[in-house]
Amino acid sequence: MTASNETCQNTTNQRRVRVRFAPSPTGPLHIGGVRTALYNYLFARRHGGDMILRIEDTDSQRFVPGAEDYINEALAWLGIGIDEGVREGGAYGPYKQSERRDIYRTHVRQLLDTGKAYIAFDTPEELEAKRESIKNFQYDASTRMQMRNSLTLPADEVQRLINEGARYVVRFKIEPGIDVTVNDLVRGPVTIKSDILDDKVLYKSADDLPTYHLANIVDDHLMEVTHVIRGEEWLPSAPLHVLLYRAFGWEDTMPSFVHLPLLLKPDGKGKLSKRDGDRLGFPVFPLEWHDPFSGDTSAGYRESGYLPEAVINFLALLGWNPGDDTEIMDMQTLIDKFSFDHCSRAGAKFAFEKGKWFNHQYLQAMNDAELASLFVPVLKEHNVDVDTFGMDYITRVVGMVKSRVSFVPELWEQTKYFFQAPTEYDPKAVKKRWSEDMPATMTRLIEVLKTLPSFKSGDAEPIVLQWITDNGLHMGNVMNAFRLAVVGQCTGPHMFDITEVLGREKTIERIERAIENINPDDAK
Ligand code: GLU
Repeated sequence: MTASNETCQNTTNQRRVRVRFAPSPTGPLHIGGVRTALYNYLFARRHGGDMILRIEDTDSQRFVPGAEDYINEALAWLGIGIDEGVREGGAYGPYKQSERRDIYRTHVRQLLDTGKAYIAFDTPEELEAKRESIKNFQYDASTRMQMRNSLTLPADEVQRLINEGARYVVRFKIEPGIDVTVNDLVRGPVTIKSDILDDKVLYKSADDLPTYHLANIVDDHLMEVTHVIRGEEWLPSAPLHVLLYRAFGWEDTMPSFVHLPLLLKPDGKGKLSKRDGDRLGFPVFPLEWHDPFSGDTSAGYRESGYLPEAVINFLALLGWNPGDDTEIMDMQTLIDKFSFDHCSRAGAKFAFEKGKWFNHQYLQAMNDAELASLFVPVLKEHNVDVDTFGMDYITRVVGMVKSRVSFVPELWEQTKYFFQAPTEYDPKAVKKRWSEDMPATMTRLIEVLKTLPSFKSGDAEPIVLQWITDNGLHMGNVMNAFRLAVVGQCTGPHMFDITEVLGREKTIERIERAIENINPDDAK
């Protein structure tokens, strides 16, 4: 082979865009994996192409039960649609690698028959011995002729070993002295010398399965993938993948590559890990995950009260921007704007505070009825009889306080007094506002409330305020005591809006109860 430094030319311009998200079911999908899936999806939709979900489960040792379901559920929750996959079906299946053994076997055979790969019998002990005797040992052109493989053993010996059931692997025969260029749409062409690569194992007879590299390339080709969009950690494998495409004679359909930058710790120092999330209090998984081996539970964005739209918006901007400073973008807007021109090569700091900010924004933009239905499970957790109050009531209450919260579960602290009368009174407020003469003032207030022609906020307010002024009472003291009696503390939305929602009866009942139960001495 002659030295060549041509970039991996592709003809993707003419082909229908097809991308794949190819997770290995080795645990819960990490938030970085979600971003990879999202960028694949945005790119596919932007170009009217197809989004494939391929399950790469050839490493049986690392298989984790439940991980595949988790991946499906997470993508569905986030609205990352899949066109072809295990569940969706499609013309290029099966979409799970463990069901494609025959396909890989045929392709391994093809490489062996064309001399692009060879069979190696070296045992782990023999390899270890070599590593000890040769400094920086690498199984490649410089060493392969000293090893026990089909290049050094006579053909009949090779056959005999196979017949006897000796364990072997198939290795890719990498030619030295070639410049290999990976055409990365974000990084530009990345060129390396083939000499630095080792003769990678493509197949293991022990489990009759290919390794990641072979399965990945064969599937990308057969599934007619045009763009490989994946995490930066796969960049070192890309030259090998380019060489495999060539070895099969598939140069014409070589995909373009995009290696997405790492997600970094919030301070930018190193790769984001689960421990950072635990330490700083944010999830690194889309959904809660129950580890089937350790029994540990890891927090998820969904269970922490994030809205999928907010998570999507937040993730989209970790490594990409729309070319201006627009921040709030729904999925369709992201699709319309997405391009690799504005993807960055540098790692993206995982600014989780910004994630909270996005959630706040999306919560505010949501209509009250929708928000109320998300709040229902939280109410139930607090034993609120949702049917008795009814959705109109819950919707109204949610609308009054939503500007104060960033997460659905936080609505409870802000609204609980709409569902249950206070049983405790903020001691600081009691000390400050519940003076000796306050019970008497509150008794008089009850009389005023009883005679109000309407309990509507706008009608009630001027009359009560006028009464306070006319009687020479202190506005702040009376109104705060009123609030303390009804709410249990001195915070919340406009007081007469609260009493309008609660209604006359409940409001008066609560004041009576406060008169009876608040003991200013308790606060001292
Ligand atoms: N199975 C690999 C993973 O788990 C896929 C890498 C790729 O997209 O090529 O990330």
